[in-house]
Amino acid sequence: MQSPAGAAQAPPRAGGFQRSEIWMDTLVSIQIVGDPPRPDCAERVKRAYAWFERVEKTCSRFDAESELMRLSGHVGAATPVSPMLFECLRVALAVAASSQGAFDPTVGFALERLGFNQNYRDGHKHSSSIPPGGRVSFRDVRLDAARQTVTLRKPLVLDLGAVAKGMAIDLAAIELQPLRNFAIDAGGDLYVSGRNPQGNPWRIGIQHPRRPEHLGVCLIASDCAVCTSGDYERTAGRGGADHHIFDPRMGRSAGAVASVTVIAPSALLADALGTAAFVLGSKRGRSLLERSGVEGLVITAEQQAIATRGFCQFLA
Ligand code: AMP
Ligand code: MG
Repeated sequence: MQSPAGAAQAPPRAGGFQRSEIWMDTLVSIQIVGDPPRPDCAERVKRAYAWFERVEKTCSRFDAESELMRLSGHVGAATPVSPMLFECLRVALAVAASSQGAFDPTVGFALERLGFNQNYRDGHKHSSSIPPGGRVSFRDVRLDAARQTVTLRKPLVLDLGAVAKGMAIDLAAIELQPLRNFAIDAGGDLYVSGRNPQGNPWRIGIQHPRRPEHLGVCLIASDCAVCTSGDYERTAGRGGADHHIFDPRMGRSAGAVASVTVIAPSALLADALGTAAFVLGSKRGRSLLERSGVEGLVITAEQQAIATRGFCQFLA
């Protein structure tokens, strides 16, 4: 399971509501502030988790029956897709274009070959039978917004691992909005709303990328998403040499950066841009974040911290 990269730091007081479930191979914790909890609290939290289930069922690369994997079987034809899948692909392709292909949702087959092919629920190893050779890229995926269709121009395996969790967090946050004061923490990708149990904006500890037991930085934020991508989160290959963020231009795991934290109004955006900045490297990554109007911190493999201009206003 993914290790947490960031966490909302507020031990719940008695009377608050807290629940954790595993979705997307990640421990997803929801904390609601309020004493006593509102009567609709448990029902809303249940519906928030149902969004994680729906997004996982739609977007999983590790389930042959997911809508994403069924789409991967249709090559050359305009295929109608659900609004959820369309939106994930729309954002993924937009970030791919603005990062000149450093971010690329067609990395699925390359990740499978690196060993990121196991379904965490049943241990089943997925292997796609697509013809070897022939480079694919995000340009081989065409969307038609009017018809809500997707056309794959070549056999390829789509991967939405860099956006799906963000999408699920945003949908869960909409479900919880009437409760006002809450935090959703999905393995270090967070959305924090309103106030913490002490009545203050939320404090968010971001893990140090090389010393898991240490905090790298502590942030203060509210009504926004904070997503962190780290090279320590998931590994595969000989002795865990490969990690899960792939540089499609180099054909291997991205090596220049240790972690990226992005603060944005939506988790979908923070999630996608964090992964994109990770692949781009520190300087180009920071420039992508600034161009996209979000704040972020890139820690390089040499432990240098490179932040966007407005990031320091969030430091505790
Ligand atoms: P995150 O933890 O948000 O950085 O997302 C990492 C996930 O994004 C990986 O587990 C893959 O599913 C996916 N991914 C890896 N490399 C790329 C890439 N270059 N472009 C888009 N998605 C990627
Ligand atoms: Mg991401």
